[in-house]
Amino acid sequence: MRPVRVRGSEEPRRCGWCRRVLPEQGSVGRPRLYCGQACRQRAYEQRSATAKAGLPDDVVLVSRGELDGLQDRLYQLRCALEDVQTLLTERPTKAELERSLSDLLRSTGRLDRLWVSERAG
Ligand SMILES: [Zn+2]
Repeated sequence: MRPVRVRGSEEPRRCGWCRRVLPEQGSVGRPRLYCGQACRQRAYEQRSATAKAGLPDDVVLVSRGELDGLQDRLYQLRCALEDVQTLLTERPTKAELERSLSDLLRSTGRLDRLWVSERAG
């Protein structure tokens, strides 16, 4: 199946390290790859470490703590989804649905970022 791409919804450019969405940039100059010096540095350290270990370029070394954090957040997301599913069987009011959906949205929070503790915001 071909991926569906809705016009005007092109994927935003993301930091090569933390995956934060990069700000729009004018057409002049080289496109930014990282959101800041800290991310550039960590990406460099990763590349050096994987190269030294003889691992392929796209391998990312993740600590047990970072992986646990991601799995915790995925678990929270799953629980929030199950809450919505349960609510739907109980003929919710519009207000209840809205509250439930905003909880769900909150639990997705920073799921797209593995290294959440690195930067605030
Ligand atoms: Zn970054």
